[in-house]
Amino acid sequence: MDKYGCKKIVFSSTATVYGEQEIPFKETQPAGAEHTTNPYATSKAIIEKILQDKAISDKEFRCSILRYFNPIGAHSSGLIGENPNGIPNNLMPYIGKVAMKELKELSVFGNDYPTRDGTGVRDYIHVVDLAEAHLKALEYIEEKSGCHIHNIGTGNGYSVLEMVGAFEKESGLEVPYKIAPRRAGDIAEYYADPTKAKKELGWEASKNLSDMCKDTAKFLQMNK
Ligand code: UDP
Repeated sequence: MDKYGCKKIVFSSTATVYGEQEIPFKETQPAGAEHTTNPYATSKAIIEKILQDKAISDKEFRCSILRYFNPIGAHSSGLIGENPNGIPNNLMPYIGKVAMKELKELSVFGNDYPTRDGTGVRDYIHVVDLAEAHLKALEYIEEKSGCHIHNIGTGNGYSVLEMVGAFEKESGLEVPYKIAPRRAGDIAEYYADPTKAKKELGWEASKNLSDMCKDTAKFLQMNK
């Protein structure tokens, strides 16, 4: 970036930099490599630190760190979406492949977490809301110097089984599942406190779980 005189960056970080702590997660809570529970989160935490240090050492450097919760969904046109190669790691793409009969059944990783139905709870955010957050973040660092951190989530948590139920309802497709062991490094439950993004970026999620499921299903059906 220095070589090409690029002084602004919006960095795609992750809510997993908070690790396991009080929910909802706020930007004022401690976060970083010493809190993470998996190597993906650690790699993001290390880059956040590099960007923060760079902003201290170079006053012209500006950055926006967006801590994504769980992005899902597709553009409502059905033209832009996600079609991972091989076996997906993330929940929604896996649900999609099961619904389209490309995979037999979903493995629900653990039903003995201290959550309302025992399955993991996450804050799912529509990808179009996420894209809009980036535009707001770019506008923000046009105005403000330094390094700024914002949570990008809805503030609502849904369990794995609630996600399966919502997807089946909105798509009319079936998603068979089985209960499987917990996945190493997973946390029971977390969701965002998105008030800082609303206050500073003027951004908040506008789409709900029904939109996320409908748009995912439309993309899958249009791109069989
Ligand atoms: N999950 C699951 N089966 C899968 C993939 C994910 O039960 O095949 C669960 C996972 O344990 C977590 C939630 O779904 O509780 C979201 O997982 P994902 O990998 O999408 O995102 P993460 O929260 O791990 O970043």
